[in-house]
Amino acid sequence: MSDAASYLFYQTRNPRPFLDRGEGIYLFDENGKRYIDGSSGAMVSNIGHSNPRVLAKIKAQMDKATFGYRLHFRTHPSEDLAAKTVLLMPRGLDRVFFVSGGSEAVESAVKLARQHALTQGQPKRYKVISRFPSYHGCTFGALDLTGYDPLREPFAPMMRGMPKIAAPATYLDRDNLSEAQRGLKYAELLRDKIIAESPETVLAFVMEPIGGASTGALVAPDSYYGRIREICDEFGVLLIYDEVMTGAGRTGRFLAAEHWGITPDIVAMSKGFGAGYAPLGAIVAGARLVEPVLDAGGFLHGFTYAGNPLACSAGLAVLEELEEQNLIENAARMGEVLMARLRELMDRYPFIGDVRGKGLLTAFELVSDRETMEPLPTKLNAYDRLVELAYARGLIIYSRRTRGGTSGDHFLVAPPLIITETQIDDMMVILRDALDAFASETGLPVSE
Ligand code: PMP
Repeated sequence: MSDAASYLFYQTRNPRPFLDRGEGIYLFDENGKRYIDGSSGAMVSNIGHSNPRVLAKIKAQMDKATFGYRLHFRTHPSEDLAAKTVLLMPRGLDRVFFVSGGSEAVESAVKLARQHALTQGQPKRYKVISRFPSYHGCTFGALDLTGYDPLREPFAPMMRGMPKIAAPATYLDRDNLSEAQRGLKYAELLRDKIIAESPETVLAFVMEPIGGASTGALVAPDSYYGRIREICDEFGVLLIYDEVMTGAGRTGRFLAAEHWGITPDIVAMSKGFGAGYAPLGAIVAGARLVEPVLDAGGFLHGFTYAGNPLACSAGLAVLEELEEQNLIENAARMGEVLMARLRELMDRYPFIGDVRGKGLLTAFELVSDRETMEPLPTKLNAYDRLVELAYARGLIIYSRRTRGGTSGDHFLVAPPLIITETQIDDMMVILRDALDAFASETGLPVSE
């Protein structure tokens, strides 16, 4: 059995044990070792693993039909999931298109935006501005929007090179501005960029409302969000929220956009939307945007598996679980607890430079010096090493080099939304133990 793994080439480093089963916030390997899934995989397993109610609903659909092509049949799971999704969305976002993943969602959002511009007699609009750092996916279109050099560089000649502005990493700023002023300062970068690119050529601006893998749960100052919306409106630029990671309750609201009362023009979702029970994603937009595209002949887009009944039955069961078990409220409450616990770690570990996030999308960043936010030396490979130390102790967290992939190490702590306070405490015991081990290996100071 183990020989089969050698044919797979997606994970050549750090070969992991075989996964046996999941249960709630836990995963078990084939040797019976238990892991707390402190990152919900890659911020996917929002309702926890192997939920029996969800499995029963998927099984019921499986027993009826696993596939029916969307052009041959309407299906109840896809229509019911679309209806439920719209109910959970801010008013005005009432048309849904299903896909199977996050990159597909982002690409679909951009193509919808483009077709909409054509219906408005604006064929010159094609540029999509995004931020640096950011992550929007790894297919060519989504990768062109991704602000993360290590992933982009090999493919750069094969892409247009869409314009980028700096993400609002205000925790690194050492100016005398207030947080509100800083938010506006970063938002104005969008206005400047739109003008520099010629507004009539700019189609859309895409942003993660709270940064994910690339920036580590980066939340902008409140002032940023409203100003970005205004700037997009000023120039007729569509605002696309990439809520692939933040959507479906992760941050304590169904969409992160709700924290600021923003209604984007198009929302992309995946990850927690299928919550690991099915490869599933969606874009949601308003009828105002979609209907002209349909009237002009339809959305020239669609994947074979889009809206298949099996994946949609899983998505529907996931949304029902979020609602019936009040998991979004739990994410908000447990997010406060987790954030407080992570902040407490800063007393003991002076090399934790920043703790940030919202709801159960939280992160901490390791640095050499909290004052200057100088990153740790790259040779320490902190982002790999701390993850290994935690993994060995039965805790899974998710790390990346931050700041565009060139320096800095951040760690996402984003457990399933079902987590309890006691389980957060269990997680923190392991995390402290791993940080102690990391400090003792590297000689970094610990305050007793
Ligand atoms: N957008 C964001 C914000 C993401 O976090 C991700 C995945 N990390 C993607 C898009 C791409 O999703 P997928 O890997 O499912 O294609």
